[in-house]
Amino acid sequence: MPQKWKGGRNAAQKRYNEKNREKRNAKKREYYQNNRDKVRESQKKYIEANMEKILAYNSNWQRKKRAEYRESVVTGYGHACICCGISETLFLEIHHPNGDGKADRKRTGGNSYTLYKWIIENNFPSGYELLCANCHRAIHQSENGICPHMKNL
Ligand SMILES: [Zn+2]
Ligand SMILES: [Zn+2]
Repeated sequence: MPQKWKGGRNAAQKRYNEKNREKRNAKKREYYQNNRDKVRESQKKYIEANMEKILAYNSNWQRKKRAEYRESVVTGYGHACICCGISETLFLEIHHPNGDGKADRKRTGGNSYTLYKWIIENNFPSGYELLCANCHRAIHQSENGICPHMKNL
């Protein structure tokens, strides 16, 4: 191949490919516009046939995302129960020391994923503390709102 062809040929090939891609996309758009119902129908069929796969994928994704968010929220608030100091991420929960958990649950639909996301997006606002599930439960269930751990201090 003569040297002078090299750049020219590649550039020409690239131009050709790009032009073709535009053409293909335009054709796809046209097809979709003319066959909207058919396209939708086939998408629906695909979803119906693969529902389990799609749901599994989504719930895996949500689990993964929730774990990721939980880890950042826990890290953002000190990564330890403020009462007993336990630091295992999966034991830790968000506590509302001002007792405004109800409003929060209403705002986020009671979904921990939504709450974590909101906390991260709002740069870890005050009004939240970390408690392990045990201390959290004890504080909410005891008459005086004090964890049994604190009585022994
Ligand atoms: Zn604790
Ligand atoms: Zn405690």
